[in-house]
Amino acid sequence: MTSLTRRALLQASAFVATAAALPAHAAAPVATVQAPGVYRYSLGHYQLTALYDGVWQSPIDDNFIRNADAAAVDRELASAFLPPRVLPISFTALLVNTGAKLVLIDTGTAGQTADSAGALLDNLKAAGIAPGAIDTIVISHFHPDHIDGLKTKTGDKVFVNAEILVPEPEWAFWMDDGNQSRATGTLFRYFRNARRIFGDLAGEVRRFTPGAEVAPGIVSIAAFGHTPGHCAFAIHSGGHSMLAMSDTVRNPYLFARHPRWQPIFDMDGPQAVKARLAMLERAASDRMLVEAYHFPFPACGYIARNGDGYELVPAEWRPL
Ligand SMILES: [Zn+2]
Repeated sequence: MTSLTRRALLQASAFVATAAALPAHAAAPVATVQAPGVYRYSLGHYQLTALYDGVWQSPIDDNFIRNADAAAVDRELASAFLPPRVLPISFTALLVNTGAKLVLIDTGTAGQTADSAGALLDNLKAAGIAPGAIDTIVISHFHPDHIDGLKTKTGDKVFVNAEILVPEPEWAFWMDDGNQSRATGTLFRYFRNARRIFGDLAGEVRRFTPGAEVAPGIVSIAAFGHTPGHCAFAIHSGGHSMLAMSDTVRNPYLFARHPRWQPIFDMDGPQAVKARLAMLERAASDRMLVEAYHFPFPACGYIARNGDGYELVPAEWRPL
């Protein structure tokens, strides 16, 4: 043993002796991952599971709301304790266990929208469910953050045993070559993406007419405007009902409080406002449980009237 090594050893053992003499107030190791994003709740005989996919901190510019100025948007973000010029877009899919079927409404981003999203399959696993166990997938609309989870990045089907249900007018719009040829920029990318996801699944996808029951107790609701065939869903079980609002209402601090605001991601602003007001008013007047894909996790709660807008009252965590 060299003297250098011996000295190092002596110093190390001196350190150990000092450390051992310290009082036992050691901190726990700092976690590097969040707890699973899974929240279960019930509606009548149905069990619902909110499955978190992640969040995208989306920069917004002055034109984000067509009919409100940037200062008003920043004021509302500040009132929700959020920084200016950035919109947190959270993604939470809803799994419905009817007792006989597992129905998944929308599918997450598959990690293709932001690095901080794409955890849906991990959370499905944490909920104890394999992708192959899903019987039915219901799609609200064809924006990438709702359909990308149908496939892996390399194009393989994820939910290998599921039938896929999509709104007929949504299919008609996005799969139309004429519509695609007139699209530019982001909209064109959405057309391309819809074909990437659905192009080779055309024979397997079942299209439903908005208003139709898509699975036992799950009734689609035409809520057009966000996209031409965008649908929300009413879920009924054992005398109880709730609304899965999809993208009718997105960030609640902006769009429940200001339902008449027209964000650029609503393709038809006035039509989307009409759908949003009808949905919020139904939820408030019937005191219905609601959930929405972009609400803060676990993305469920109630809607209360507040001035000429509405307020999300988040549901409190409950044991089953
Ligand atoms: Zn969305």
